This record gives sequence, C-alpha cells and structure tokens, in this order.
Amino acid sequence: SGSTGPSEPTGPTITLVLGDITEQHVDAIVNAANSSLLGGGGVDGAIHRRGGTAILDDCRRLRASLPQALSSVRAGETPIGKGLPTGRAVATTAGELHADHVIHTVGPVHSSSEDRSELLASCYRESLRVAGELGARSVAFPAVSTGIYGWPLDDGARIAVETVRETGAGTSVEEVRFVLFDETAYRAFEAAL
Ligand code: ADP
Repeated sequence: SGSTGPSEPTGPTITLVLGDITEQHVDAIVNAANSSLLGGGGVDGAIHRRGGTAILDDCRRLRASLPQALSSVRAGETPIGKGLPTGRAVATTAGELHADHVIHTVGPVHSSSEDRSELLASCYRESLRVAGELGARSVAFPAVSTGIYGWPLDDGARIAVETVRETGAGTSVEEVRFVLFDETAYRAFEAAL
C-alpha cells in the first residue's frame, strides 16, 4: 500500500505488549473514552480508577471549553454540546499513572450497515497529532472500539496498524505501543503487523 514499515527511521516504531495499559511507563496513554469524557467502562474505567480524580477534574474543565480545545469542528460532526466528537482526541493530565498525559479519543460504535472505518482511523491519527503537539515520544494505545463498541478485532487491528504506519515522519513520536488486554487481541495485532 506504500506505507512505511515499522523499522524505517521515518516513522514511529510499533511494539506490541500483552497487558494492562494503566501499568505502562510512556509519555502518553491513549484512552478509549466516550463523548461525555466523564468516564465509562472498559479501559476508560481502568484509567480513571488507576489515574485518580485529577484526570476527571481535567476532563470536566476540558469539556466546558471544548470549542477552544478543538481547533475546528468539521461538517457532520457531533455538535460540541454533546461532548467530544467521534474520531477526535484531547489531552489531560495522567494523574497518578506512569505517564505525562492521557489522550482521550472517542472511537466509533461498530455498525454492520455503515462503514465507520475512517472514524476509527481518525482516532489513531488525531491521537498521534495531539501526542506530537505535546512532544510525546512514546505513546500507548488500547485497541480502540474493540470492546464495548463492538468493532471486530482483526479489522480494528488492521486499521490501527495501517494508520500508524501512514503517519510517517514529521512527528516527535518514536514508539507506538499497542497494549492488548488478552491473547486474542494480541494475536490480532501480531497478524496485522
Ligand atoms: P470501546 O468502548 O472503545 O470499545 P473498551 O474499553 O470497551 O472501549 O475496549 C477497548 C479495548 O480495550 C478492548 O479490546 C478491551 O479488551 C481493552 N481493554 C480493557 N481494559 C483494558 C486495560 N486495562 N488495558 C488495555 N486494554 C484494555
């Protein structure tokens, strides 16, 4: 497809870890949040539990100032009053996590009648853009949308890997670490790589 390989010096190196994203020592941890930014289940719940209340406090502040926090709202996006639009990303403190930032992104709910792949790719792209703005060198991602939001793992893994590879040069991010919570997810990412 013309995308760069993980070993080329022009883009971030991709690594896979089987484990819990809240235990990672990285510059930025990406959260599979929901539009409200007020916490939820899955990886979102784990990040808020382990990171402490500072993250939620920051989320509340951010939510109140989303028009300023986002550079632009695109046509067709969820109105700002409803929270962070699907496919976008914003950063907060990482509280007590071993990271400097949590980057919250809202994955699309999987649909069998509508192709929402571009929105899922946007989560990875926008999160990396925000990470770059923060000067982060290492970023940990969960498998966005593949839990409660029902995205098939193999397809979610393919989109994640392709999108990171397409990022290429021009980012401060040197390592993208996919942190997979179980062996099925790990194997899906291994196959995608
Ligand atoms: P979504 O609503 O975007 O689907 P979920 O949190 O439900 O978000 O699931 C996203 C992925 O994160 C799933 O593959 C799930 O198994 C995984 N996951 C859940 N908890 C953790 C964790 N602590 N660390 C890493 N991944 C996790």
